Amino acid sequence: MSEIESLKGQLDSLQTAALVAFAQAEDLSALQQLRVHYLGKKGALTEVLKGVGKLPPAERPVIGQYVNQTKAALTQALELSEAELAVKGKALRIEAERLDITLSGRKQAVGALHPVQQGLDEITAIFAQMGFAVAEGPEIEDEFHNFDALNIPPEHPARAMHDTFFLKDLHSDSGEPMLLRTHTSPVQIRTMKRFLAEHGEPPLAVVAPGRVYRCDYDVTHSPMFHQVEVFKVDRDVSMAHLKGVLQHFLSTYFEKEVGIRLRPHYFPFTEPSAEVDISCVFCAAKGCRICKGSGWIEVLGSGMIHPNVLRSVGIDGDEFSGFAFGLGVERLVMLKKGIPDLRLFFENDVRFLRRMGVSK
Ligand SMILES: [Zn+2]
Repeated sequence: MSEIESLKGQLDSLQTAALVAFAQAEDLSALQQLRVHYLGKKGALTEVLKGVGKLPPAERPVIGQYVNQTKAALTQALELSEAELAVKGKALRIEAERLDITLSGRKQAVGALHPVQQGLDEITAIFAQMGFAVAEGPEIEDEFHNFDALNIPPEHPARAMHDTFFLKDLHSDSGEPMLLRTHTSPVQIRTMKRFLAEHGEPPLAVVAPGRVYRCDYDVTHSPMFHQVEVFKVDRDVSMAHLKGVLQHFLSTYFEKEVGIRLRPHYFPFTEPSAEVDISCVFCAAKGCRICKGSGWIEVLGSGMIHPNVLRSVGIDGDEFSGFAFGLGVERLVMLKKGIPDLRLFFENDVRFLRRMGVSK
């Protein structure tokens, strides 16, 4: 074979290989590499051209024309592949960025008030509508406000019944250990003192919601729970006022006319004292498991404020009288919503909270 035929053969096979490679290129960067490999300054075509110098001068123009044809064919094929890959790349990008607007959106979970907080708000609002002013007090108390001022002196057995959490490292100004309040009744003392300092004498009517603490835990007891303290002091306040306020409150809260019954009881801070029952809201007082067949359910403790309590804040018990009662918020919410176990309130099981209709 002559030298020129050999060169033409090399150019033919180079062109065939290049066209196949261009057609199979996956993307534009692969194609760019092929361009360098075949048409670059140190590429395959340049390599073949080195053989041209060995040809006799008369044959060089012939092979020159052949080389130009090969180069043109490669360039044209490259541009074609480039155009195809550009279109394909755009299509891929569009596909990757495609949004399915028929997919439904992600639902935002909206938080809501806990059933106990709902109950607190509801109960407080009923008293606020009756004209009671809302007051709050500290959860860390001293023995004076939590016990002494409420007619529970140091040796009184009621202190033991309160299962108090004492804060051994915290002391009051008089050196006694501080404690977590066991009831909202100390707010009575603090509010009466503040009110007298500002206004000189009663009347005052107050509702005081808040957290209280006792060292106790079972189906009906939690170490932290909520109470609402309600009291009114004025001239000529009687048990009849107490009963009227209770009747209105309990019927409003349970959204039905409930019967109420006052049973004589003992509390150190009221005299006389009464436990308050309502006609069973589950069986219409016919008798069921929850009211243990009696038709009545105990809901709170109440009474006329003990003269010693009035005296501890400087109110003349001969001139003024008052009623007070304290109710457990969890207990009332359990009765209203039919919740069997107090602990459900504090376990934060979302299934329970959803059922209470307070979480979406
Ligand atoms: Zn019943």
